[in-house]
Amino acid sequence: MVAPALGRRAFLAGLGAALMASRWPLAAADPGEPAAPRLTLLHTNDTHSHLQPFGPGPYQGLGGIARRATLVRQLRGSLGGTLLLDAGDVFQGTPYFNRYKGVLDYRLMSMLGYDAGTLGNHDFDNGVAGLLTAMAQARFPFLNCHLDARGAPELQERLLPWLVLDQPGVKVGLTGACVDFAGLVAPANHLGVDWRDPVPPLRAAVRHLRKVERVDLVVLLSHLGYDMQGAALDDLRLPALVPGLDVIIGGHTHTFMDAPVRVPQALGETTVFQVGFGGIHLGRLDLTFGPGRMLAASGGPVAVQGGGGTGDSWSVADIGQEKIFSRG
Ligand SMILES: [Zn+2]
Repeated sequence: MVAPALGRRAFLAGLGAALMASRWPLAAADPGEPAAPRLTLLHTNDTHSHLQPFGPGPYQGLGGIARRATLVRQLRGSLGGTLLLDAGDVFQGTPYFNRYKGVLDYRLMSMLGYDAGTLGNHDFDNGVAGLLTAMAQARFPFLNCHLDARGAPELQERLLPWLVLDQPGVKVGLTGACVDFAGLVAPANHLGVDWRDPVPPLRAAVRHLRKVERVDLVVLLSHLGYDMQGAALDDLRLPALVPGLDVIIGGHTHTFMDAPVRVPQALGETTVFQVGFGGIHLGRLDLTFGPGRMLAASGGPVAVQGGGGTGDSWSVADIGQEKIFSRG
């Protein structure tokens, strides 16, 4: 049913889905009719070690992972099925990365209950060994279907080409892709890992998820970039090349979008969304479903209001004091 090397989190998600299933339907227009399934995707991209709210500048007071944790908890409490996803470039950007080298970021993301993530080019900034050290703290799966990591077997083992997560009334298929390393990742930092054209592996992943796993929804975690102006494959051109993607959760270009866009493709439309960088916004996509397929997607960015409010899930001060390592 589920993907290769099913992680504990995925297992728990599946278990949660099984428990939730008995409570479905939650609301029905006609008492005899089950309500149409709904699912909300919450997502981040290019958080770049911005664990604290932004200081003076255009984003002052926004962001911060403690506040993000509170927001996610509130939304999960008020919505039905939700998945929390990340589109890569968790690493690099603040002194937290210099000190903790991504270990703290993945640890905190695990405490937030991320369901899946993918790798961006900056996640290789401390080489494959540095990435693996940080990934050891991640209690969520990493999706990528096209990096050839046979020369780095430990990383190969951590990268899933696809994954199935059962949500109430919806079987969700996920896959992942990363921007070309050329000019972005120093050869010494991706030893044993080669970038390959994502299009054929993505087609294969979508085909597998649709035909074999029979999922209701296919989501790509993309670190390809929103609009690369024709210089490289991107989220706007991908749907024409890989039909059957319902949703692309994007990253890499730090694109602040007011709303998701719909890109036509051979089998319908692909909803594409990305939320800037630095954890300033949390992306929210509300999806509705008909039998076996997504019907509609709507949503937008939710501002992560920083400042370490008293209602936060944990103290912002904890983060800098390593207390966080003894929790969760
Ligand atoms: Zn990037």
